[in-house]
Amino acid sequence: MLAGMSGERITKITLDESEIPRRWYNVAADLPSPPPPVLHPGTLQPVGPADLAPLFPMALIEQEVTTERYVDIPDEVLDVYRLWRPSPLFRAHRLERALGTPARIYYKYEGVSPAGSHKPNTAVAQAYYNAAAGVRRLTTETGAGQWGTALAFACAQFDLTCEVWQVRASYDQKPYRKLMIETFGGVIHPSPSELTAAGRAVLAADPHSPGSLGIAISEAVEIAAQHEDTKYALGSVLNHVLLHQTVIGEEALLQLAKVGDTPDVIVGCTGGGSNFAGLAFPFLREKLAGRMDPVIRAVEPAACPTLTKGVYAYDFGDTAGMTPLMKMHTLGHDFVPDPIHAGGLRYHGMSPLISHVYELGLIEAVAKSQSECFAAGVRFARTEGIVPAPEPTHALAACVEEALRCKETGEPKVILTALCGHGHLDMAAYGSYLAGTMTDRELSPEDLKAAAAGLPVV
Ligand SMILES: *Cc1c(COP(=O)(O)O)cnc(C)c1O
Repeated sequence: MLAGMSGERITKITLDESEIPRRWYNVAADLPSPPPPVLHPGTLQPVGPADLAPLFPMALIEQEVTTERYVDIPDEVLDVYRLWRPSPLFRAHRLERALGTPARIYYKYEGVSPAGSHKPNTAVAQAYYNAAAGVRRLTTETGAGQWGTALAFACAQFDLTCEVWQVRASYDQKPYRKLMIETFGGVIHPSPSELTAAGRAVLAADPHSPGSLGIAISEAVEIAAQHEDTKYALGSVLNHVLLHQTVIGEEALLQLAKVGDTPDVIVGCTGGGSNFAGLAFPFLREKLAGRMDPVIRAVEPAACPTLTKGVYAYDFGDTAGMTPLMKMHTLGHDFVPDPIHAGGLRYHGMSPLISHVYELGLIEAVAKSQSECFAAGVRFARTEGIVPAPEPTHALAACVEEALRCKETGEPKVILTALCGHGHLDMAAYGSYLAGTMTDRELSPEDLKAAAAGLPVV
């Protein structure tokens, strides 16, 4: 029964469709103290449901603040999850052998979803709750296009119009995500656009603006706030997004139990923190209950080191300073990270819930340079046969580091990682690595100081 004991090697640990978790897990219910409240930028008072109602349906606002330990997954959402869930958990025998490590490495693979990443786990839930509330259209921003793709797919499932503002620079450079969004029925605009006051103001100042995630958020929010039948959807950072992603960790718990293993180390990459939280929070529940004791490690890019180098302070979620203030590890909303290939990890802040858990000392964090990450990504592709998205190569680099440490010490640790997406549309990034033209720029203390100087005074 145990992997390796019967002589029969288990590589892919699957679950039956009937074993898809029926509930999402809310870690806030089990923490020793609640996370600090989100504040209104004008009054500096905690925001209430009425403040958020123009942007989100009430069901999601309730999930944002709930203290219940579990939230039932609606049947309609489970029905769509069945297209790719349960996702497989793999034992990385070939990577282990290549590294010569006694560690047992497992990866939970979310690249099997329609968008090729973990993002549909929340996109489908958000589209469902909006449709159930009578909303007809969702707006959002997208950088590289992962989130826009996931939301366009989800909207197609529930007959919603999906309108995506994609940062101009990536709209021009990465046409395939745009075409995927359109194939799923989404409408896509380069941002800045002429369709919003925010976009027009930027274009008036600079007709050739390459755009930014901050500008794209402003445009998507503006349209949602102006129309009764339109709301806005966010792909990371917020509590309800992390909640929806816990289906990943709940499945992984069942899958590891099937092979009789318990993780000693869990690693995941963090942009806004949703795939990491999705895998790690159900294991954190087990850790807090004393049933296991894994080290839980977030891995961020050295070019955007929010947890390891940022400050824990109230800051805006967007560059323009329009959103409520969230207490989080942040480099400052003015911080512009180097254009590293892991576009999904270039966010100035960290999810408030992960930031709080980090402050409580329940997780740790490390930062990795992109060359080290791509080296791990290529090694992984050549052994395991999956080309990882640039983002999870960060988790893989930390995985390789831990496995090599085990080789030194002879410890047969169990390492679990989130392989949150494939890199089939990121081959240009691999091209740059393979051609030897990838660079790592060190962030100077001055860069960090300058960005933090723009933090709002609370
Ligand atoms: C969006 C994205 C990320 C970063 O977002 P998180 O909320 O930190 O998970 C990481 N990996 C992939 C594949 C993504 O699409």
